[in-house]
Amino acid sequence: MKPELLIFDLDDTLYPPESGLWHAIGERINQYIQKRLGLSLSEAIALRDQMYLQYGTTLRGLQLHYGIPPQDYLAFVHDVPLSDYLKPDPHLRKILTSLPFRKIIFTNGDRAHANRVLNALQLDGCFDDIIDIMDTAPYCKPMPESFQLMLEKGAVQDVSRCVLFEDSHRNLVTARAMGMFTVQVGKNGASSEAHLQIRTIHEVASIFTPSFFISDGR
Ligand SMILES: [Mg+2]
Repeated sequence: MKPELLIFDLDDTLYPPESGLWHAIGERINQYIQKRLGLSLSEAIALRDQMYLQYGTTLRGLQLHYGIPPQDYLAFVHDVPLSDYLKPDPHLRKILTSLPFRKIIFTNGDRAHANRVLNALQLDGCFDDIIDIMDTAPYCKPMPESFQLMLEKGAVQDVSRCVLFEDSHRNLVTARAMGMFTVQVGKNGASSEAHLQIRTIHEVASIFTPSFFISDGR
């Protein structure tokens, strides 16, 4: 298979979960729900878990049930000092720029957050486009509609020549069912539904073996 498009998730994929950044964003989400809806911390966490499971992201659930404005939510939850959690990754930059394929970011966060993360990792300019949660409104990963909008915005000709790098098990499940080639990054989820698994994003180039290019990806 000759890849047409490499699709990268952002959070906990381009940087490891051990960075603590996603945990810090989670604490901001809890604070936001507490403040906006006047809930205790435990009530906020319970609501957040329920929304996440039911709607794919906490935001989509909060929009539907409480009319929460997305930009207000996104600006608040992503307001964390990134340099406390992320450092430049010149090694990854070198690997990504060596891959001669079109590359995009596909995130349930927003574009401003994605750009800040890419700046903190010094990966700016490594990707051709960013498709964020505003681009896929009113959907989000893992909904198939969200992936469909991403494929349209990415001007994809052949879905079977798209390769998705993701940490989230359920997002990989949707992508594979839609015909994409799927690579799970890290061990977020015990048994993977993905075609391949890599331990960290630094192994991204390792999947492009001679046999990968002659396989049909299925
Ligand atoms: Mg992720």
